[in-house]
Amino acid sequence: MSSHLPVIQVPRLDTSQPAAEAEAPGALLGRLLTGGTPPAVPARAAIPSSARTLERRIAYMATKAIHDYGMIADGDKLMVCMSGGKDSYAMLHFLQRAQRKAPIDFELLAVHLDQGHPGSPTETLETWLQQCGSPYHIVREHTYDIVMEKLEPGKTTCSLCSRLRRGILYDAAKKLGCTKVALGHHRDDVLATFLLNVFFCGQLKAMPPVLRAEDGYNTVIRPLAYVPEEMIKAFVKTRDYPLLPCRLCDKQPDLKRSQMEALLREIDGLYPGALPSALHAMKNVHPRFLMDNKAWNFDTVVQDGSGEADRDADAFS
Ligand code: SF4
Repeated sequence: MSSHLPVIQVPRLDTSQPAAEAEAPGALLGRLLTGGTPPAVPARAAIPSSARTLERRIAYMATKAIHDYGMIADGDKLMVCMSGGKDSYAMLHFLQRAQRKAPIDFELLAVHLDQGHPGSPTETLETWLQQCGSPYHIVREHTYDIVMEKLEPGKTTCSLCSRLRRGILYDAAKKLGCTKVALGHHRDDVLATFLLNVFFCGQLKAMPPVLRAEDGYNTVIRPLAYVPEEMIKAFVKTRDYPLLPCRLCDKQPDLKRSQMEALLREIDGLYPGALPSALHAMKNVHPRFLMDNKAWNFDTVVQDGSGEADRDADAFS
């Protein structure tokens, strides 16, 4: 090992001065990676300018994810969870497209959970669902009052709201005879969840593309798991969807998830290939290079791995 290791000089904190305004998420990372002021953000991975090419590219990614993880089987009835956000509209569109083209038969049921959030224009979504081309169902369970009453100080509304949503949607799937529950999480949701688990929960885990729920009945699928959020945003701009913002979340700009998303955007700006690499890493796990002795028996004799150096982090030291 070289004895001339580079030393990163961390500036001493001057406590005699008032605290500076909080640094934007990711700015520190940018300075450490570049050893100074972050460079101008390079162009991000190109989004096809033609709406048709963009649609085909997303369709390819969704189809590949569906195929790679066996998300849909002949005879399935998918409950397509329509929150009214951009991802849910995109998911329904690409599942409808897959339904038209796939060599198997499966049903789609678009389901919206009306949680009674004040000012949420559920009727707009219902009107849209009436002509969306698939059967739909609205579940009305007003969780808003419960969230407001039971929320512990310092906790985000999402932490409780999402648990309530999940339980209600799982129950609805059973009652409606759905075999799987489709959620609109995309690649950046998967990566942000990974960072949240690493930085705040001490766990190496993310969002699986397929998950059999603990209730033993429901199976969750995430057909957009490979699709970058930027592509979904660009796709949605080409359509006329009545988007329903979540007014509860809008009031919580400090959500850790939002901060992880900002961090990912900054990394993507610095290194345009980094997020595809991060997604690939989810599919390429090497337990013997981690520290979990439940996942790997460290008594096992193996090669030292030096032949892989050009493909791992040693190549950057
Ligand atoms: S985004 Fe809104 S609806 Fe979704 S979990 Fe958070 S508070 Fe609930």
